[in-house]
Amino acid sequence: MKLVVDQDQRYAKMRAHTATHLLHAELAKIFPNTKQAGSLVDDDYLRFDFAADRLLDQYEVDKINKVINQIIYFAYPVKVDETSYKEAIKLGAKAFFEDKYGDEVRVVQIVGNIETQDGKEAVKSIELCGGTHVENTKDIGCFMIVSQEAVASWVKRIVAITGPKVYERMQEVQWILDVVVSKLGIKTATQLEDKLDKVMKEHDEMAASLESLVSVLLTNILTNAPAKKDKDFDKIINIPLNINFKNVLTSAKTLFDKQNVLIYNDEGNFLLMTKTWSSAKAIATKLGLKWWGNEQMVQGRDEKVLELFK
Ligand SMILES: [Zn+2]
Repeated sequence: MKLVVDQDQRYAKMRAHTATHLLHAELAKIFPNTKQAGSLVDDDYLRFDFAADRLLDQYEVDKINKVINQIIYFAYPVKVDETSYKEAIKLGAKAFFEDKYGDEVRVVQIVGNIETQDGKEAVKSIELCGGTHVENTKDIGCFMIVSQEAVASWVKRIVAITGPKVYERMQEVQWILDVVVSKLGIKTATQLEDKLDKVMKEHDEMAASLESLVSVLLTNILTNAPAKKDKDFDKIINIPLNINFKNVLTSAKTLFDKQNVLIYNDEGNFLLMTKTWSSAKAIATKLGLKWWGNEQMVQGRDEKVLELFK
């Protein structure tokens, strides 16, 4: 039987694996005492869990992306050496599973210098690792952090992509952006922020005027609706519209503070208010309605109210 290794897949995993080492080295700059808590390397996809008490902020994410892509463009060789465990530790190699290593170990090194917005920075990734890597950082192609989350209070997880997956992702983002730009009727993505501010302002203004309109409408309905009467109530009002019952409450309180009133809508929401000398709780209980409230006012949602006052 011949063993066939899918070259595409093999390179995709190698790119993600070497990028994992670079990510680990950059995280160690931010969290000097961090430890790898787990890692998954797949085709141009990597997941890296590490010990940290917080997530990265946006500046740190941007910087790691920038630095690792610079390391890629600067084309540093990925050096693989066999040496003794002692020598490797002397080099400063990160070792994760101390007990697992024999006398001879494999050291994977990427060392160099890059220029960032914060000045010159050393790149130093030295790890004990038996896995396969690309020969040169340029072979990674591209690197991008796509998400981070807390998997436990002391463990954070970063997911990143490499190589063609970054291009695919950018293409997808561009496509979404194109749709948004065209739906908003603007010409370029740079106009997006202004347009969104404008749309949100319009939305807030509309919501505010709608609210005052509803309040006027409600007052009108509550004052003029044909109201029934019976021995318990001065007024029984059915609100035909599906209006938020919170608004009804506000209007009713000012309009009917001296009467026994029952207001309900077609969904069975009701409000029962009484004069100070009669108990709203007692009337609601007598009618068999499910309610909450106090002596002067109870509320509830009980479709039985629709049957009671048809
Ligand atoms: Zn490794």
